[in-house]
Amino acid sequence: MPARAPSALTIHELHPLLISGQLSPAELLEDLLARIAGHNGAYGAYIDVAADQLREQLRRQLASGRRGRLFGIPITVKDNLCVAGEQTTCASKILAGFRAPYDATVIERLRQEGAVIVPRANMDEFAFGSSTENSAYGATRNPWDRQRVPGGSSGGSAAAVAADLAIGALGSDTGGSIRQPASFCNVVGLKPTYGRVSRYGLIAFASSLDQIGPLTKDVRDAAHLLSVIAGHDPMDSTSAPVEVPDYVAQLEAPVNGLRVGLPRLPEEGIEPDVRRCVEAAVQVLQRLGAAVERIELPFIDHSIETYYIVATAEASSNLARYAGVHYGLREPAEDRSSLIEMYLRTRTAGFGAEAKRRILLGTYVLSHGYYDAYYLKAMQVRTLIKRSFEQAFSRCDIVVMPTSPTAAFRLGERLTDPLQMYLSDIYTISANLAGVPAISIPCGFSSSQLPVGLQLLAAPFREELLLRLAYAYEQATEWHRRRPALEQA
Ligand code: GLN
Repeated sequence: MPARAPSALTIHELHPLLISGQLSPAELLEDLLARIAGHNGAYGAYIDVAADQLREQLRRQLASGRRGRLFGIPITVKDNLCVAGEQTTCASKILAGFRAPYDATVIERLRQEGAVIVPRANMDEFAFGSSTENSAYGATRNPWDRQRVPGGSSGGSAAAVAADLAIGALGSDTGGSIRQPASFCNVVGLKPTYGRVSRYGLIAFASSLDQIGPLTKDVRDAAHLLSVIAGHDPMDSTSAPVEVPDYVAQLEAPVNGLRVGLPRLPEEGIEPDVRRCVEAAVQVLQRLGAAVERIELPFIDHSIETYYIVATAEASSNLARYAGVHYGLREPAEDRSSLIEMYLRTRTAGFGAEAKRRILLGTYVLSHGYYDAYYLKAMQVRTLIKRSFEQAFSRCDIVVMPTSPTAAFRLGERLTDPLQMYLSDIYTISANLAGVPAISIPCGFSSSQLPVGLQLLAAPFREELLLRLAYAYEQATEWHRRRPALEQA
């Protein structure tokens, strides 16, 4: 047995131990459950964990005889992924008590490989946010500093992986929700190309931007999980019929000569510590043989306003279905004959403040008379942003930038100032608007000992390039090995 506790190991370290019988899946699960019982109270990474259900699931998984790539390995999932028979609420009161009638495609694929599915990682309600403070079930805290946010909206998944309360996790990323929390918590987070991973069974936020992806302790694990979940799915018409390479097998391919583009970063708004870490990381990439050149990415300066029009427009339409009729909460009207009053009362009671803000914004930008000025204009700018990336990727293989302009901020600091909160997404959003894949990897610490993330972006369906360069960087550095010292609840 290794010196570290089983729950502190990676997927690729655990797999041979489990397959050879040196460690039993039950020992691993019990170790993880004990750790969650000891620390989840202090960090709120999970909304809840049903230990007996997990033991039963493992029993069934073992009885099935499957010995796949995730044999006996618990994988944590964000509360917006449907897990058959389990509560799936998007951390919203409006879905309280809703049990998913089927497994999301990604869940089915994890199960096929022998994984034990661990619901429900905490998140911002409906994935609206960058701090996980918008959860109806209480905020998640950052394992590196309990007074700070873990990022969002997949903050529960990121905090759980960072604190060894998860082996690996799935999150969703509409404008940075995998990468920004990964960078705040010192873990690896990958947003695949739009269409690479099936969205079937992911509760929609903005359907033209949403992607599911892994949050893991290192790059090899990200390659491992992506290999399992990627690929065409007839149940999602936007999933691409593009062959999935063996991401793990390609990790060690040479990076010598890869062309890396470094866009100009604004002078303001970016913390000096972040700038220092990213510049140092670029030097490491150069030492590894990458050819770094300055590039221009025109129009990405407009990505925040473009995103907050497109994303809210789609969200307002996706959220129209929560009306107290089919799912979750229903607040009956006083006047029993009034359907409108029932809708109103249900939506007023069920949605939190940020969800209401998004619905109002989205309805406004789509409304008659404003559609051309806002939504249509935003879609035109989106096309320009996409073209900027096409041009960049005709000259280089990878684009490098910070994942977030700052390290983790304090709880409450941005909650009353939505614009400040939206600014956290300045470097992550353009990848979603353009549909390109992007990864965040640990690249250093601020002077107050908070993690900083490096973001790499590639052309559509070139995840193997991202993983390859990220892996080479990780092999040359030690940042990803640092673990936070946890506090008791
Ligand atoms: N922080 C962004 C937002 O609030 C992105 C969220 C996400 O990717 N789900 O919309």
